[in-house]
Amino acid sequence: MTRGRVLSVASECVPLIKTGGLADVAGALPAAMAAEGWDMRVLLPGYRGLSARLVAPVVIWQDPDLFGGAARVLGGAVDGLRVLLLDAPHLFDRPGGPYSADGKDHPDNPERFAALCWAAAALARGGGSDGWRPDILHAHDWQGGLAPAYLRYGEPAPVRSVMTIHNVAFQGIAPAAARAALRLPAAAFTSEGVEYYGNISTLKAGLVCADRITTVSPTYAEELMRPEFGLGLEGVLAARAADLSGILNGVDMAVWSPETDPEIVPYSARDLTGKAVNRARLIAEFGLGEVPGPLAIVVSRLTGQKGIDILDRALGGFVAAGGGLALLGSGDPALEAAMRAAAARWPGRVAVRIGYDEALSHRMFAGGDAVLVPSRFEPCGLTQMYGLRYGTIPLVAATGGLNDSVVGATPASLAARAATGVTFHPVDEIALAGALRRLVALHADRKAWKAIIGRAMKVDVGWGGPAKAYSSLYESLLA
Ligand code: ADP
Repeated sequence: MTRGRVLSVASECVPLIKTGGLADVAGALPAAMAAEGWDMRVLLPGYRGLSARLVAPVVIWQDPDLFGGAARVLGGAVDGLRVLLLDAPHLFDRPGGPYSADGKDHPDNPERFAALCWAAAALARGGGSDGWRPDILHAHDWQGGLAPAYLRYGEPAPVRSVMTIHNVAFQGIAPAAARAALRLPAAAFTSEGVEYYGNISTLKAGLVCADRITTVSPTYAEELMRPEFGLGLEGVLAARAADLSGILNGVDMAVWSPETDPEIVPYSARDLTGKAVNRARLIAEFGLGEVPGPLAIVVSRLTGQKGIDILDRALGGFVAAGGGLALLGSGDPALEAAMRAAAARWPGRVAVRIGYDEALSHRMFAGGDAVLVPSRFEPCGLTQMYGLRYGTIPLVAATGGLNDSVVGATPASLAARAATGVTFHPVDEIALAGALRRLVALHADRKAWKAIIGRAMKVDVGWGGPAKAYSSLYESLLA
């Protein structure tokens, strides 16, 4: 018996196509929700080459003219995941990434993702020719935003909708003149509808039309109602505060497990011998010298969001106190240069790898003592959760999902045996430098340090908890 059927509408999904965290969530949720009794399938654009990867594809929906060409939806499976692929060559069979080619956005992005949403709404209304019709449509980010809008402004449908924000910075802006081409009625172009500062925002469309709104952590849900985080949508979100909630993402416990990770010398909370070996190997791999204090790691995009400039300014005191840093990341050239300069300033104590290297990141989580995440904002964040799993103590800004996944060490939380990391606020170099001093002190107290590692490694950061939260949300919609 299934509790209900859910159509997840996303622009990327592991293992088929990924540019960011949305793909991990879209790919992990169906199995996690299946464990809760939900039949969830993912509708994705049929980007070049994807349909060949579907096992046993069947045409379940067709439209001779979907935004300028013939389209069909293929139902099938990939690695056990039930996928519906929108096969519309005029929109998706082209070189480049999902959103851009050669650094330029595809000029017809509004129509491309409108088509995805149109197909989603059609499936929600009438079902596929295989008889599968969802009870709930779950749309992700601006690419899915028009799906709840097509449900609201079109024929009534017996389906409820959820809109999830993974990153509010991308708002799906299209010119007002595109309204008719996007198949939105004139009546939708109001401040209560899809209109956004004179343009159309497909994210806003989803936020005003969906029955419920979620984002990827409870703290970020609250922050989004403030201008510095909502980036223009704070008013829209505040108006829907009663329908807005935050559900933390999980991590793949099979991929991120110090007991079975093939990249490392395995270890567990009970026997940390392997972690010491991984630390020595990491020091050698990065060409560091002796690090008497905590060996910190950073695995991150190097952008303003991630607070790398703040870290650069706070690093001197940490190094002087015996700390070391191994950083892996890429992004903003100025930040890459700043981190290279830090490595040159403190040879043997600070080392930097510019690039993207998943295997190396595993070795870093295994060998580090602490993982630093000084983000200015962080909807959920993953590296602090990998840190918990690997007993690599997270030192994080108390913002967004970082604030919801790490219990900062204070005299009270240490006495209560609850602390799992170090937190700081506000997000500036003074507070970060203070947090680094507290990290050094904690690390020097061998008994307290061992205890905090034990607690961190016990934190459940898997998908079980989040799946239960989505399950209650869906139940409340169907009640
Ligand atoms: P965001 O999605 O904002 O970049 P998250 O912490 O949610 O931040 O997710 C980032 C993911 O990308 C994590 O899985 C992290 O380990 C990984 N990652 C980031 N930079 C690198 C890198 N240079 N090499 C390997 N993995 C990286």
